[in-house]
Amino acid sequence: MSRNNLFRCLVPRLYVPSLFAVDLDFLRQQGICGIMLDLDNTIIYRDAGHFSAEIISWIEKVKEKNFKICIISNNRPQRVLGLARKLGLPAVCRGVKPLPAPFRRALALLGTVPEETAVVGDQIFTDILGGNRLGLYTILVAPLPGKEFWATRLINRQLERPVLWWIKRGNKGKQAQRHRGAEDWGQ
Ligand SMILES: [Mg+2]
Repeated sequence: MSRNNLFRCLVPRLYVPSLFAVDLDFLRQQGICGIMLDLDNTIIYRDAGHFSAEIISWIEKVKEKNFKICIISNNRPQRVLGLARKLGLPAVCRGVKPLPAPFRRALALLGTVPEETAVVGDQIFTDILGGNRLGLYTILVAPLPGKEFWATRLINRQLERPVLWWIKRGNKGKQAQRHRGAEDWGQ
């Protein structure tokens, strides 16, 4: 993979300050009918055992709008499956994102093809890189504040810095402008 192609694979199709800023009707217009959701620091604090009321009602809204939805996480089965059950969602656990296998497993759970599937996550080097390589519609959300896995904090977040800098310069900003609060990204 050339350096340019690698860089392209790191840039999300859309970036938003939080999950709640994702415009579901806009996604539908893009032909999206399946959504894979990262778990830790995307829809729940890494050490938390319960979802916020806002997240639970957001998931309900997504279901009501007839999106197929599943969890995709690198975390261990005890945590992922237990939490997914609380939301009534199927899940891929111990995923080893950004490798393609977990994304393929998630596509099988959803019963969708890559062109009609979005992945929402907080990490460029797992969620976005893996999703882009498979041709998914990638959505980067600002991570929930809180404790992170040591490798995420020391390695992945440092590697993300130059990519975020580039994104924030506005090179991919046009689509994000359709989304509520997108201009507040990173502030
Ligand atoms: Mg995450």
